[in-house]
Amino acid sequence: MTGRSHPDGSLAVVGLGPGDPSLLTESARRALDAAEDLVGYFPYVARVPERPGLTRHASDNRVEVDRARHALRLAASGRRVAIVSGGDPGVFAMAAAVFEAVEHGEPGWRDLAITVEPGITAMLAAAARLGAPLGGDFCALSLSDNLKPWPVVTARLEAVLRADLVVALYNPISAARPWQLGAALAIAAGIRAPGTPVMFARAVSRPEEAIRVATLAEAPDLPADMATIVILGASTTRLIHREGRPPLVYTARTVEGTA
Ligand code: SAH
Repeated sequence: MTGRSHPDGSLAVVGLGPGDPSLLTESARRALDAAEDLVGYFPYVARVPERPGLTRHASDNRVEVDRARHALRLAASGRRVAIVSGGDPGVFAMAAAVFEAVEHGEPGWRDLAITVEPGITAMLAAAARLGAPLGGDFCALSLSDNLKPWPVVTARLEAVLRADLVVALYNPISAARPWQLGAALAIAAGIRAPGTPVMFARAVSRPEEAIRVATLAEAPDLPADMATIVILGASTTRLIHREGRPPLVYTARTVEGTA
């Protein structure tokens, strides 16, 4: 072995979107159709239909860099590989893990054809269901403290709450992290008004989809799980009430006054 990769090998890092196949991009679909090997966390691999000529390599969660190395090794051996993430692969997902593996891995991996196929991230899919809650300035934070210390999470959350940004909270809760969402909502309650709109969007575009709009004061009582994204409104986030239908939520494009 010279460390140089096989010229035909390639790796596509593919975003599968929030769930429904209609929300997969045409470009992502082409990359999946061209793949000989499919690598990913098993629920995402399961979303791609089986077909002759496609070998599936499903792995458990929380082994992202090992999974990335496995995909890179396959690509370096000359295979056409797709590695999949839910939503967008660049948002709290596999693309950064792949590049981390490339940076620290075999020199030959740098010669591989690596492409990233974007996907509709959970925040955008949820926002579209609600109206336009991301119509002003916003940010995305992961509440998971698996990859960063919790004091970093809280410092960032406080900063963006004080800056009056709408905040999309990914990874709000899991069996292993049961208390972080409650702690984050308590921090928000100390900074934002109790009537601030808070949205919980679960499993957007999947059969078990559930969308809830509440106030910050009510938010601690709402159910949430690993498939939920929480969007905290800003002072400019408004509700349009409608008879017998859920409210529309939007964040004004205009901000009054000076900072
Ligand atoms: N790469 C993914 C995010 C991975 S982090 C993306 O771009 O969407 C996993 C978190 O994403 C979950 O804990 C949840 O907060 C959110 N999420 C993923 N799919 C979702 C969906 N269909 N509906 C609501 N939230 C979702």
